[in-house]
Amino acid sequence: SLSDRLGGVFDRLRGRGALTEADVRAAMREVRVALLEADVALPVAREFVDKATEAAIGQNVLRSVTPGQQVVKIVHDALVAMLGADASELLLDVTPPAVVMMVGLQGSGKTTTTAKIAKRLATKERKKVLMASLDVNRPNAQEQLATLGTQVDVSTLPIVAGQQPVDIARRAMQAAKLQGYDVLMLDTAGRLHVDQALMDEMRAVADVASPQEILLVVDALTGQDAVNVAENFSTEVPLTGVVLTRMDGDARGGAALSMRAVTGKPIKFAGTGEKMDALEAFHPERVAGRILGMGDVVSLVERAAESIQQEDAERMAAKMAKGQFDMNDLRGQLAQMQRMGGLGALAGMMPGMKKAQGALQQAGGDKMLVHMDAMIGSMTVKERNKPELINAKRKIRIAKGSGTTVQEVNKLLKMHQEMSTAMKKLKKMGGLKGMMAMLG
Ligand code: GDP
Ligand code: MG
Repeated sequence: SLSDRLGGVFDRLRGRGALTEADVRAAMREVRVALLEADVALPVAREFVDKATEAAIGQNVLRSVTPGQQVVKIVHDALVAMLGADASELLLDVTPPAVVMMVGLQGSGKTTTTAKIAKRLATKERKKVLMASLDVNRPNAQEQLATLGTQVDVSTLPIVAGQQPVDIARRAMQAAKLQGYDVLMLDTAGRLHVDQALMDEMRAVADVASPQEILLVVDALTGQDAVNVAENFSTEVPLTGVVLTRMDGDARGGAALSMRAVTGKPIKFAGTGEKMDALEAFHPERVAGRILGMGDVVSLVERAAESIQQEDAERMAAKMAKGQFDMNDLRGQLAQMQRMGGLGALAGMMPGMKKAQGALQQAGGDKMLVHMDAMIGSMTVKERNKPELINAKRKIRIAKGSGTTVQEVNKLLKMHQEMSTAMKKLKKMGGLKGMMAMLG
């Protein structure tokens, strides 16, 4: 995996005195592969690595970090800087109605995102919002938006059968002006692939509605095609920003970097689910961590800090720094998981956690947390400190004592093993403290 590969780079670089050009180039080759694996488009990855290499070569090695950490820190900072450059909210400070136009390929999430943004503006900013669908291609597209409108309690323009997109846009503008709406959201039609008819239609609508914001909606899973999509749309209409959808899925987020590089426009929101409140401001640090394959350590640390006592955290960090992880630690982690919102909250936030979470979910989900606590409670102090002592006979005793089964005890031991391995990997990367320092 990517973290392993970066870990390998750390190993090679660790202990040397300075960031030589050869060191940096070796590390950057790995970084480039990592970016491609995270779905960053090839030309974008190339350009980014060239810039980061320039920034890294010749830098003085800081005393407090290893050369490997320093390279990753430089790459991480460059990623954050690029992803977050010119960050801004929607700029709707004009004589109403301010028009927001959504463009993108079919299925990218335009209609869903239109309703999500409308809801956000209506509830958080108390704006009076009108939505209109200009999608006359897909059957029921206009009804889809109307249904979402009802769901989020935002008005939609009444549907008039047979009307063409530009005429709908005109009617929507008129209605928004006459009825005193603050914001008009225009949801447009997409195609499966970029084509000229779509582009012409989009431009004609933009001419009629003069939008303040034209947001390109892109599926975060878009890979090498991201460059084409971004280039095609941004040459036809003056984009003001990008929305990345499906950030809740397996996407590593490389599309964010591709989009930022090709359009030159900020990423304004991230879609994180199908529900109407699954829309977040874009967090460059988190996405940078995800692209580099380090898990969302930043937000894990933030949330952990809210729920754990400071001493607990420090004791844990010290243990993790040594690569140690026994049953007492696992028990502490299980209790913490419950405080932090159960299993779902932890997915993908730390290297290794996703796997452990999968194992737990298979084992019966949140109910299993309670069983695990009981099993650890039935272990002797020695067993907790040294789980490798637990043989077949001991397993039977633990199962009996906790009212569980040997099978469940085995699952617990397997999970401990997996988390312990993850901790050792963390140690290889310089420990949690090292990672926190890198993530800045
Ligand atoms: P459009 O063709 O661009 O208008 O795309 P839609 O808005 O109709 O979305 C297509 C599908 O993607 C729908 O099933 C949405 O629920 C889903 N979708 C949109 N945004 C997200 C997201 O951020 N996460 C997930 N998981 N699904 C999304
Ligand atoms: Mg649609």
